[in-house]
Amino acid sequence: MPELPEVEVCRLGISPHVVNNKVTKVIVRNKQLRWPIPDEVHKIVGQSVLKVERRAKYLLLRFDDGTLLLHLGMSGTLRIIDEIIPVAKHDHFELAFVNGTVLRLNDPRRFGAVLWLDKHVDEQGLLSKLGPEPLSDEFCYDYLFAKAKNRKVPIKTFLMNNHIVVGVGNIYANEALFQAGILPTAIAGTISNKRYNRLTDIIKQVLCAAIEQGGTTLKDFTQADGRPGYFAQSLFVYGRAGQACLTCKETLLEVRQSNRSSVYCPICQQG
Ligand SMILES: [Zn+2]
Repeated sequence: MPELPEVEVCRLGISPHVVNNKVTKVIVRNKQLRWPIPDEVHKIVGQSVLKVERRAKYLLLRFDDGTLLLHLGMSGTLRIIDEIIPVAKHDHFELAFVNGTVLRLNDPRRFGAVLWLDKHVDEQGLLSKLGPEPLSDEFCYDYLFAKAKNRKVPIKTFLMNNHIVVGVGNIYANEALFQAGILPTAIAGTISNKRYNRLTDIIKQVLCAAIEQGGTTLKDFTQADGRPGYFAQSLFVYGRAGQACLTCKETLLEVRQSNRSSVYCPICQQG
């Protein structure tokens, strides 16, 4: 599943090709994604993309009178390719541009989304209830401590709650808690402000490092094959249960939390 760094790398990958490029056609091959693709998306024919932004894991293509919102779901990929490249299975949606390129969405599992937001409406809709971006100044020292007050949920569940902070998915919650030395099962309301401030720094660092690493895959967005936007990363704990801790050599353990796997080191991480 693409997490925040993959979506940010996708934004960086497609932006230079679509910004200031005029849409000549909107092609919907299968409108049944997570939600049906609304007919309003055809409004953008004749308009140019002003900029591409990201909020949580949503890509926001800004146009004069509204925003095309794209979500990659579990398995979605976006590519910028020449319009003559034949359509493949699961190519459900595309924008054709005046310069002969297309932005093509492939999504085998169809949990992705293509939606239209009229100007100024997005702040009240789908995006309005989201917490701050982890890489923004709003996600700062003292923020997590204040939000965690009296919370009895495990810290990992707390971090993955989009109302608290967006985009800290399972991989990065595991990694950040390991690097901060906090057990995933520790109760959110019992963690000190000092430890939360360190965790805040580490969340920013792990996400930035992943985005930087993903930068090497930018060329994949313009290739007809492959899986652009998915990149291999060096991880301390995620996917390594039963293997030795890279810091202390202790065997890493696994626990299920909210139906997701949490991997941790019983020596390096404390409650
Ligand atoms: Zn360890």
